[in-house]
Order: sequence, then structure tokens, then C-alpha cells
Amino acid sequence: METKGLWQAVLGELEVSVSRASFSTWFKHTSIISEEDGHIVVGVPNIFTKEWLEKKYHDDIKAVLARMNAGINSVEYKVSTKKSGTVAGNKPAEAPAHTKSPVTTGTYTPPSCLNPKYTFDSFVVGASNELAYAASQAVLKSPGQKYNPLYIYGGVGLGKTHLMQAVGNEIQRRDPSKRVEYVTSEGFTNEFLSALQRKKTGAFSAKYRNVDVLIVDDIQFLASKERTVEEFFHTFNTLHQSSKQIIISSDKPPQAIAGLEDRLKSRFASGMMADISAPDLETRSAILQSKAAAQGIILPASAVEHLARHFQNNIRELEGALTQFIAFCELRGIEPSVAAATGLLSNIVSTRPARRAPAPKAVIDRTAAYFDLKPADITGLKRDKEIVVPRQISMYLMRNELGLSFPKISAVVGGRDHTTAMHSVSKIEKLLEVDENLRADVQAIKERLTL
Ligand code: ADP
Ligand code: MG
Repeated sequence: METKGLWQAVLGELEVSVSRASFSTWFKHTSIISEEDGHIVVGVPNIFTKEWLEKKYHDDIKAVLARMNAGINSVEYKVSTKKSGTVAGNKPAEAPAHTKSPVTTGTYTPPSCLNPKYTFDSFVVGASNELAYAASQAVLKSPGQKYNPLYIYGGVGLGKTHLMQAVGNEIQRRDPSKRVEYVTSEGFTNEFLSALQRKKTGAFSAKYRNVDVLIVDDIQFLASKERTVEEFFHTFNTLHQSSKQIIISSDKPPQAIAGLEDRLKSRFASGMMADISAPDLETRSAILQSKAAAQGIILPASAVEHLARHFQNNIRELEGALTQFIAFCELRGIEPSVAAATGLLSNIVSTRPARRAPAPKAVIDRTAAYFDLKPADITGLKRDKEIVVPRQISMYLMRNELGLSFPKISAVVGGRDHTTAMHSVSKIEKLLEVDENLRADVQAIKERLTL
């Protein structure tokens, strides 16, 4: 097989086994630049990708290559400046890391739009956020250069704002002359509408188009207000064209934002996308330990783990539980133990208002909205793949979140045979075990159900 075809085949295999964001980040601009005596040299766009492939994907890449061509026995990665051409030796293509600016030896004053507590130091890295973390570090190294825009997406309370502001804070700390602007998409909208009213749009444009780093949080709320979107679009283009860094967050990938213009979707997707998912137990425990340590409190690992087990999908809730736990122990003058944690949890559980279960219609509506479909598509008869999978997901959620019976689910989803519902639910259950993207989708819809 010719090397180009071989690499295409390898990428084809890898694409289905890694998340969409990881794939486009790490594999998009790679190629085989030489093959000799079973030794393959893979060209990568920068040192950062090189390290990442070596660390995270080397075994997978090797295994797939060996399967395609038994003669291949070793693989190495080289930074290649051209897409499929010469190799730039060992010289990193990355700009040299910033040296600390002498002016930053004193205390750093963040711009008012940034929260100084959101730093890289206070951010705990685990499997759920390492891609987004690494991407943010890369942006920090050479803002505006490669990963532009950086698009971070994931569920509520998983650290998107923290991470983006950490980049802003660190860029500002290293170089106080840099103009960093952070705004939520709602803030952007409101400010623009008010400028419009006061006939001050010129000043508004000047403010956002003359920054070095623009951070826009929760872009999914940049509603379809036409003039605001237009203004944002031009701001984006102006900054992008002059190589100013743009960082965007959202609760879902650009393609999945209902009502977002295609031209914005494609611009967002053109940069670097990184997802953050719910942290595993180990990461949750580490976050708790680090937050406690920041307050000068050392907690026993067992108590931490006990708390971490109870709060799985939202780090903000986890932090809230920690604060309550510390207060709970202090007020009662007791040691922070597992027993104390259990006592606290029973309190929290009993005082929390019971959540009303969402109606089946809500499941259909939210699932449809998430996939940019109409509720009638879900309950209708069309068999297109784009509709069938969301339909199956909605049945899965009705079964697992609402506990509905199969005949009831079938009735709700357009009067299908109840074996169809059974089949759909078990199909999604099986897929969830292997399909990371599907897991993220289902998780995102679940979060919306409880809003
Ligand atoms: P999001 O913007 O994704 O909704 P936030 O960035 O507001 O989430 O994070 C919610 C809270 O959880 C914040 O207080 C943040 O400091 C904390 N947090 C999230 N992820 C981490 C992490 N990896 N390490 C430490 N704290 C975290
Ligand atoms: Mg946020």
C-alpha cells in the first residue's frame, strides 16, 4: 500500500475509536513522511502534537499500522512544517515558551473581567479534562497562532469558565500590556443592544475588536438576535484575521447548537475543539483535596472519597458539598470523617426539594432540540439515521430516567410496537458502553432534563 493510502486507512480506524474533538485536534494535519525497512515516520504539525501522540496514542497507532502492514515494526513522530514534506529536524515548530516578564514579580492585578482565583495552579487535571487543559496550555504558549479559535465544550460545572479564565489570567500575568477581554455571550448581547439604543455601536465595536485575547463564555446563548450575531461575526473575523486569540466555550459542539448560523459553526470548528466530560472518582477526589488544601484543611482520603462518590456530574456541586462539610464539622466540633460525611449527606438529601420527574414530552422536546430536530421527527415515522438514533435515545431516557414501561414508551413515541421500544433501549445501552460521543450526547440531554 502506498504510504498516503496506508495513513488514510490508519486514520479511518482511529477516527472511530477516539472522540471527535481528539481526532480533529491530534490527527488532522498528520501524514506519513517516510517508510523504510518497516520504520514509519509520521509528520506532525508541532511539538505539542508530537508529545501527545507519543504519550497517548502511540500504542494504538502502532497496533493499527501493524495490522495493516505486518512489515511495520516501529513508528516515530517528527515535526514537519509542510503538510507532507520535509521534516524540520528536532526544532520545535512551536514558538519558544514565554519567559517570565520582569514586571510580573509584584502582585498581579487581573483585569476586572477575570476572576483571579481561576488559575492553572488551582485546576486539577484528569482524564476528563486533559485534552482541554493541554489545548489551553498550547494557546498560552503561542496565543493567536495555531489553535484559533480554541473551542471548549462540556456540561455545566465542569470547569470551562475556570480553564478559559486561567488562560486569560496567565497571559495577562506574563504580559500586562496584553488586552484580555472576557464576556459571556449574554453579556455581549446585552452590551451590544444597549450600545445600539444609545447609538454607541462604534465604541462597542472598537472595544471588542481591539483586544489581544477575546474569551466568550457559553456561546450557546448567543441567541438568534440578528444584529448581535452579525456584530459577533465581524468581531470574530477581525480578531481572527489579525491573529488575535479567541477562546469560546459552549455546552455542546458547534454543529449541535440549534439556531447557530452555519458560517459561525464552520468558523468555530475550524480551530481547535476540546471537550470536557464529567470527572471520574479519582479526579473528583483530587479536586476536593486541592480545594480543602487551599483553605489549609487536610481531609482524610476516606471522607473525601465518600463525598466524591455522591457528586458525580457537576464540580460546582462538589465544591458546595465540601464547603458545607467543612462548616458542618466545625460547627459541631467533630473530626472530618466518613461518619461526618455520611451525617452531612443525609442532611443534604433530606433538605433538598424533591425533583419532579420530567414529563415524557420534555424528553422528546429536549432530545429533539439537542439534535436540531423537531419533536414531530422523534414521534414520526421517518427512518433516516439522523432521526432514528435521537428517537432511540429518547426511548432510552424515558426508560432509564422516567422509568416508563415499554408499552407506554411506544405509545408516547408515535404508537410503535412495544418490542421496538425494547429493542431501541437495549441498542442504546450497548452502544453507550463503547461510544464516547454517544455518552456525551446522552449526558448532555440528561442535564437539560433537570433544568
Ligand atoms: P463551567 O463553566 O463548565 O460551568 P466552572 O468553570 O464554572 O464550570 O466550574 C465550576 C466550579 O468547579 C468552579 O468553582 C471551578 O473552580 C471548579 N472546577 C471545575 N473543574 C475544576 C478542576 N479541574 N479543578 C479544580 N476546580 C475545578
Ligand atoms: Mg461557565
